[in-house]
Amino acid sequence: MVSAAENTVLILNDADTAKPSLAGLTRAGLKDALAKAGVPDKQHKMRVAQLWSWIYARGVTSFDDMSDVSKDLRRTLADHYTLARPEIVTEQISVDGTRKWLLRLPKRDRDARAPEIETVYIPESDRGTLCISSQVGCTLTCSFCHTGTQKLVRNLEAQEIVGQILLARDRIGDWAGAAVPENGRLLPTAERKITNVVLMGMGEPLYNFDNVKDAMDVASDGDGLSLSKRRITLSTSGIVPEIPRWGELSGTMLAISLHATNDTLRDELVPINKKYPIAELLQACRDYPGLSNAKRITFEYVMLKGVNDSLAEARALVRLLAGIPAKINLIPFNPWPNTRYECSDWETIERFADVVNRAGYASPVRTPRGRDIFAACGQLKSESIKVRASALAAGSDTSA
Ligand code: SAH
Ligand code: SF4
Repeated sequence: MVSAAENTVLILNDADTAKPSLAGLTRAGLKDALAKAGVPDKQHKMRVAQLWSWIYARGVTSFDDMSDVSKDLRRTLADHYTLARPEIVTEQISVDGTRKWLLRLPKRDRDARAPEIETVYIPESDRGTLCISSQVGCTLTCSFCHTGTQKLVRNLEAQEIVGQILLARDRIGDWAGAAVPENGRLLPTAERKITNVVLMGMGEPLYNFDNVKDAMDVASDGDGLSLSKRRITLSTSGIVPEIPRWGELSGTMLAISLHATNDTLRDELVPINKKYPIAELLQACRDYPGLSNAKRITFEYVMLKGVNDSLAEARALVRLLAGIPAKINLIPFNPWPNTRYECSDWETIERFADVVNRAGYASPVRTPRGRDIFAACGQLKSESIKVRASALAAGSDTSA
């Protein structure tokens, strides 16, 4: 097996940090940027539409490529702005094709150092899923999650959230042929590599509601990135008051990090449960707008040896979810250094899955992906520094 260090690709970006980037902005953000560059008001609508299509449907990274924009305006834009993506610190490619990027974001006022986040691409036979981060670190402290142990925490800007999608499309070559012109509009082709986006990277997305919403609006815009909201899933630890608001204002698919069937255990595993206990959480799920058998809520359940993996708990899980259009996702625990938990034995997971399956839930056990590059759930970020250091020691300089 190839080791993580051998797989690490170091890319030193020469991103021009002096000028702000337009890539990742909302329509309102682009309009402001045009105004600041002195573009007359009456041109804004048309110019925003042009920029939108070049940035989000075609993925251009240079103003020179915007052939229907006048040379003068292209020069003005280039004088003030770039189309830069977040800076890549490392790119790692797993033996199973999973890719993980460690990204460095520009330092903002209160940042002591440039924050780093991770984005992961997971190719499967029928889909390609991009797992994106919504915060640097997380303010919550789920006891089995490594991200929760990270100190530096800030919300990502909408631009930084969208930037992860743009960057992933760049790196896996997901622009060319990504859209075909039809009746003057660009329509997505079936050959898209990134077909799904999950907000399951670092952070609690409902604690960064407005920016995550703006970002998902950009991602699902039919004239640009064109990801259907049915293929975008927000995962939450259960911030109950924000769930109906998210459903009404954004309406993506929802995943709930349940992980326990009683409040005593969930208080320990997912401490936000003390504030929003299971009964309230499940009521918010029942009320989530638009639920049907075609649009179900995913319940995530991490398998922790001797903690939450008994057959009695499998039966309790099934009883708890009765009446909610639901999918159950059993996640083998991904260990990290000094954690007090272990992953359940494979047989235990299978027996647990049997109970769930017999109750009528297709419950795929989520196969851990990209373990060799620490890209699996809950392994994000913290291991990267180690990997990067070893890659440097090995003098790795190959590029993808
Ligand atoms: N904060 C959000 C989304 C990010 S976490 C949430 O908690 O839902 C994405 C998923 O990974 C969650 O279900 C989380 O509980 C799970 N997870 C965290 N650490 C894990 C680990 N070490 N092993 C397996 N799954 C983990
Ligand atoms: Fe935060 Fe989610 Fe990790 Fe809990 S599981 S600490 S909410 S990222």
